[in-house]
Amino acid sequence: MEVRVGQGFDVHPFDTGAGRSLVLGGVRFPEARPLAGHSDGDAVAHACAEALLGAAGLGDLGSHFPDTDPAWAGADSLELLAEVARLARADGWTVGNVDCSVVTEEPKLAPHREEMQRNLARAVGAPVSVKGRRPEGLGALGRAEGIACFAVAVLTRSAAPPVAAVE
Ligand code: MG
Repeated sequence: MEVRVGQGFDVHPFDTGAGRSLVLGGVRFPEARPLAGHSDGDAVAHACAEALLGAAGLGDLGSHFPDTDPAWAGADSLELLAEVARLARADGWTVGNVDCSVVTEEPKLAPHREEMQRNLARAVGAPVSVKGRRPEGLGALGRAEGIACFAVAVLTRSAAPPVAAVE
């Protein structure tokens, strides 16, 4: 059995963005400032996808969904995450779990955590845990200039059977 771990990180600044909503883990926060981004700016989904890609050795999110490609403008990042999970499965991987930490002063995530976890787990096809952490006023995140997210993912794959030597 092969076991691989992947790490993902993403950060997006808040945007004035008229007409956009903050989206984290597929949950809309209509009362909060939106994040800047080419897609829907869902930094949580992006960090989870980067972790899966890292574990599977499949490059990074930008190489699969370039932010210069108009096809991904305003994209639903849960769909990008689901596609990344599909790519990993196509290479024989099973997702064990994904765990992420969201670093932000605002908005409060706890009331929406269960829904975020459900959305992300549905996209990934495995358990996803979400934890919120306040940056305690430190730095750009502490000044509420943006949101960062860290994620780790574990993938497993059955080892290929050994090829029998020809006598
Ligand atoms: Mg991103």
